[in-house]
Amino acid sequence: MDKPTVVISACLNGYFNRYNGGTVSDDQVNALKPRFELVNVCPEVEIGLGIPRKTLSLFRIGNRIQAIQKETGLDLTEKLAEFSEKKISTLPDVDGFILKARSPSCGVKSAKVFGNLEGTSILGKDDGIFAATARKLRPHLPLIDEGRLNNRGLRWEFLARVYLHFYFRKSSQDIKSLIDFHSKAKYLFMSICQKDLKTLGQILAAHRKGNFEETLSAYRQTFYRLLSRPIRKSNLINALSHMFSYASPQLTPAERKHFIKLLDQYRSGETDFVTIIEFLRAYGYRFNLPYLLDQYLLNIS
Ligand code: SF4
Repeated sequence: MDKPTVVISACLNGYFNRYNGGTVSDDQVNALKPRFELVNVCPEVEIGLGIPRKTLSLFRIGNRIQAIQKETGLDLTEKLAEFSEKKISTLPDVDGFILKARSPSCGVKSAKVFGNLEGTSILGKDDGIFAATARKLRPHLPLIDEGRLNNRGLRWEFLARVYLHFYFRKSSQDIKSLIDFHSKAKYLFMSICQKDLKTLGQILAAHRKGNFEETLSAYRQTFYRLLSRPIRKSNLINALSHMFSYASPQLTPAERKHFIKLLDQYRSGETDFVTIIEFLRAYGYRFNLPYLLDQYLLNIS
C-alpha cells in the first residue's frame, strides 16, 4: 500500500464504455493516474446497459431526482442507486473518487437536472446518482471530476484530502505512528478546522497504554468529521501565518514585509497560495526547519 487508492470512472481510464462507445482522455486525469491505485467503475454498464446505449438524463419529479432514458421512458433510478450503494459499501479502503463530469451517473454537481421530460427546462446541476451515493456513504472522502481538476486550488484541495486519508490509513497501526501522522498533519488540520484539531490533540493526550483501539476509534471519528468540512481561505491563511512564525525571527525586516504582502495578495486573490507554500518550503531548507518541511501542507502538490 504505497499509493492512495482512488475510484475512477472507467471512461476516464481508457475504457470505451461511454453511451456512444467512446472514451475520454483528459490531460489532468492522465497526469494524476500514476500516483494512484485505480479502481474502475462504470455504473451504467455494471447495471447491465449496453455499449452503445440510449442516453440517460436526470429529472426532478416532485422531491426526487430520477435517472430516466428519455427515448425509452425507462426509469433506472432504483437500479443505479442500488448498484451504487452496494458498490460503495463494499469497496476496499479507498481515499477518493475521480468521476466523469456532467454524467447523470458520475457527474459531481455537474449533471444537468431537467424539470420536464421534454428536456426543455433545466432546473440546475447536481450530483449524478453514483456521485450522490458516494457523498452520502463516504462523506469524508473527496470527490472531483475532470473539469474541476483544471482549477489549481480545487486540484490541490482534492489531493490534500486524498493524501490525508491515505496517510491516516498507513498510520493507524500503533500510537507512535498515529502521533507522527498528527504532528505532520497539524497545519493542514488547522486549515480545515481548529476546533477539530484541538479535539484530536486531546484524544492523543488522553491515550493510555493498552487502549490503542479505543484511542484510534475516537481519533477516526473526529478525523472523519474534520475531513467532511471544507478548507476555508481564512483558516488556510491562519495556518500559513503560524508556519511563517518558525522562520520569521531569522528573516530580515524586508523579507518579513514581503511575505506578509504575499499573504495579503493571496487574501485578495492576486496570488496563488502555491507561491506562498514555495516560500515557506524555501525558508525550511534555508534555516533547516525539519518540523516545517515535514508538514503535509508543504508536501502536497
Ligand atoms: S460517465 Fe460513468 S456511467 Fe458514464 S460511461 Fe463513464 S463511467 Fe460509465
